[in-house]
Amino acid sequence: MKIIRTVLGDVPAEQAGITLTHEHLLYAYPGADLDHRAAFDFEEIVDRVAGDLRNGRESYGIGTVIEMTPAEVYRHPPLMRAAAERSGVNVVAVTGFFPQSMGLPYYWRRQTVEELAQFFVTDLTVGMMWSGSQTGIKAGALKIATGGEGVATTPSPAGPDGLRITALEQRVIRAVARAQREVGCLINTHTDPNDYAVTNPGIEQLDLLADEGADVSKVIIGHAFIQNTGMHQLYEIADRGATLNVDHIGIPWKHGSTDELDGILADQIVDLVEHGYADRITFSYDRWFFNPRAKVTDLDPEFLNARVPIGYFFDSFAPRLLKMGLSEDVIRQILVDNPRRLLSIDA
Ligand SMILES: [Zn+2]
Repeated sequence: MKIIRTVLGDVPAEQAGITLTHEHLLYAYPGADLDHRAAFDFEEIVDRVAGDLRNGRESYGIGTVIEMTPAEVYRHPPLMRAAAERSGVNVVAVTGFFPQSMGLPYYWRRQTVEELAQFFVTDLTVGMMWSGSQTGIKAGALKIATGGEGVATTPSPAGPDGLRITALEQRVIRAVARAQREVGCLINTHTDPNDYAVTNPGIEQLDLLADEGADVSKVIIGHAFIQNTGMHQLYEIADRGATLNVDHIGIPWKHGSTDELDGILADQIVDLVEHGYADRITFSYDRWFFNPRAKVTDLDPEFLNARVPIGYFFDSFAPRLLKMGLSEDVIRQILVDNPRRLLSIDA
């Protein structure tokens, strides 16, 4: 039987429904959990996050979100569980770390590949830690992340081996591959959009994963569409059997306006579908449902990720795709069938 592993337990994969593959119910940078100014009322925030999710379910049919917050980036299992309970939306948590440039705590830099793999497997099969205790809330997918800071405008530096993936990130990626071999779950990734100008960071990630025996047909490469990406780079990733995540729909990251980025994304999607890659695409926003840093400053340009309406895809982006000739069936395949296949675990 195929299941998806949610924060409320395993559910039959057929119940996944429309799935957004890269979202954040709570997102802040490592260390934000220590900031007095960012303290928040748990019940109030769960209500707000669950309200957005419930609206997504009732008004647009959203069935599942993959909560992509890495372990050290204020990942909050109790908040995910409560928001899933109150909204009726499946929430799939991930285990994994941020890029070394922004995270990957020193404690974990000192662990071996075996220890890192064991950490990930325990998150996936026993439960994640919160505030010093085992929660019993399991992650349902793995995450890897490479490259420079989100605000950077130039590619991340090449290492001695020529890769834009640091030696420590490579160790983590190998551990993620081993954990996937053991559990059989999805690996969902973050690449640095700047890096597509000088390499194909998705292929760099896939090479390392494949070298460690991962199933690359259950890998989603994230942020590949945003900037500097040639269509041949997207084909190259899809030809390996991996899936391409179209994210930042409605969020003009590294672009002047929403309309500008949406236009680029839509052109790339139509091209991919015309070239036979409809089964290699997933959709999402990369929305921050709640960022406690908003209590400190609301002027941060990155808060664009918090402003996209939950129904934006359905109200604005899907109509654009339909107008460009994509069929309802293909959109449904990308929203429902592809994520279900990728999230499925043999139980
Ligand atoms: Zn994200």
